[in-house]
Amino acid sequence: MDDEVRMDDIRGMVLFVPGLQSLIDLLRERGWAVIGPTVRDGAVVHAEIESVDQLPRGVGDLQDAGSYRLRERDDEALFGFAAGPQAWKSLLFPSRELLWSGRRVGAEKEVTPAVVDAKRLALFGVRSCDLHALAIHDRVLAKREVTDTAYVARREATFIVALTCSDPGGTCFCVSMGTGPVPDEGFDLALTELLDQDGHRFLVVPGSDRGQEVLDDLKSRAGGGEVMPAGEQDHLGAQEVGAAAAQHMGRSLDTKGLRDLLYAHPEHPRWADVASRCLACTNCTLVCPTCFCTSVDVVSDLTGSATERWRVWDSCFTTDFSYLHGGSVRDSVQSRYRQWATHKLASWVDQFGTSGCVGCGRCITWCPAAIDLTAEVAAIRSGKE
Ligand code: SF4
Ligand code: SF4
Repeated sequence: MDDEVRMDDIRGMVLFVPGLQSLIDLLRERGWAVIGPTVRDGAVVHAEIESVDQLPRGVGDLQDAGSYRLRERDDEALFGFAAGPQAWKSLLFPSRELLWSGRRVGAEKEVTPAVVDAKRLALFGVRSCDLHALAIHDRVLAKREVTDTAYVARREATFIVALTCSDPGGTCFCVSMGTGPVPDEGFDLALTELLDQDGHRFLVVPGSDRGQEVLDDLKSRAGGGEVMPAGEQDHLGAQEVGAAAAQHMGRSLDTKGLRDLLYAHPEHPRWADVASRCLACTNCTLVCPTCFCTSVDVVSDLTGSATERWRVWDSCFTTDFSYLHGGSVRDSVQSRYRQWATHKLASWVDQFGTSGCVGCGRCITWCPAAIDLTAEVAAIRSGKE
């Protein structure tokens, strides 16, 4: 990852919609597959895109606990929606990954490490909450004594185009977590979509030497009607977009003394209350951009002469996850929900130095029982039973 360019040294550029297409073309030409948002099956999902026409033009969303719907916007915004069901983690940390395979040849045993598939990907439209989630995964998977070499290889092959969130969802609370809505670091380029009297355009600023180089190349190739230097109005407009988004968070979480609050209440009756609603379905952990727990599946052929080890996403909501010899350590849903929430918001701080929650709201939107982490914590804080 390149050195960061000082944000106060740069003025950025403005791209009109054809200029945004030129950026996609340039990234593709430089060997990155561009992965961006698009509409499929009634949701905004990530897929490889080649054209701005594949972006969700005029599409917004309505999100609440256990509820997600697309809606038609009254403008032509290309990024006028909040975080969708997919975090970016599945691209860098796949849900299922071969670690190694082995086979017996006569009396000999052969072990073959898996070949890492590290495609060059440009992640297009990464929100600030998800940038912070990537930083957490970097800390956990790439910056500890033993690194996840496949993650590191993929991460190094990734170009990040960040995005200022303009229309947060009903379950977002990144402001509470100090993680958004304006990208502050960890990107190569950052876009802010502007729709005002000066037209539909994007302020783009570099966040790395590599991003600056792409921007310089874009400037030298694109026509004057597509790309131009950013003016003061564009920067003021972008600041207003971020400020307005910060005012429209669907939820909030009071983080004051949160770690100590949760440690002090392991037997609070609210844990039993939430357990009576929780289905232990694991959805919240699968959609969460920071959850990283895995287990290893052993797959053998019928003759017993070949075997494979697959790492798969796991979840602290399953009984098997905490199985030690003789049984599961957390055999009640109450203990599993408490483990998840307390790890995210308390012991994660001791382990990694930050909260494990970036306030994206996905666990709330995609919980079939409409369980809301912010409400559960507020109930514990209130002291009421
Ligand atoms: S909190 Fe919701 S999403 Fe998470 S395991 Fe329970 S029911 Fe499933
Ligand atoms: S715990 Fe919920 S709100 Fe926090 S990062 Fe995970 S999915 Fe997002």
